[in-house]
Amino acid sequence: MKLLIEQWHTEISAIIQSHYPAFEIPLTDYSLTGWNYAGKAMAHKAFYNLELAEKNKDTFKEVVAHELAHCWELQEGYETGVFERGHGKSWKTKMIALGYSPETTHNFSKIGVVKTFIYKCKCCTREKGERTHNKAKKFKLKTGREFYTCKKCRGKVKYTGIYHE
Ligand SMILES: [Zn+2]
Ligand SMILES: [Zn+2]
Repeated sequence: MKLLIEQWHTEISAIIQSHYPAFEIPLTDYSLTGWNYAGKAMAHKAFYNLELAEKNKDTFKEVVAHELAHCWELQEGYETGVFERGHGKSWKTKMIALGYSPETTHNFSKIGVVKTFIYKCKCCTREKGERTHNKAKKFKLKTGREFYTCKKCRGKVKYTGIYHE
């Protein structure tokens, strides 16, 4: 199943690159388990639930397209600074471009994106997960200082107030 998913992941990424040449093929992660999520996405990582994939072999390719459409939208967001939440117009347009109907209802209990918080320093933009974001927020409230310093520009890495879910 993993091989098949990798194949779909590569195939769909190539279609995205034909629309958006700057698209960097996301890494794949198979750590999702249980019944909650079939897939999740970050800009450069797509998470696939192998247990659910095994049970839904016929329809799981759509989950791969669903997550990659999120990755696409997030990577574009890094370029434009505009992040759309959830399954809005931008995500829907991308699903159509990939040949899928932009419906979010399917057999799976849930497919979603990892809630991420967008941070910026002078040289780059990056995303943090909810746990690290909360740690940084607590630190700032307590000390008044930023938790993260960028290793490249040595500047403070600040939360932009933008999050994506
Ligand atoms: Zn989604
Ligand atoms: Zn920097």
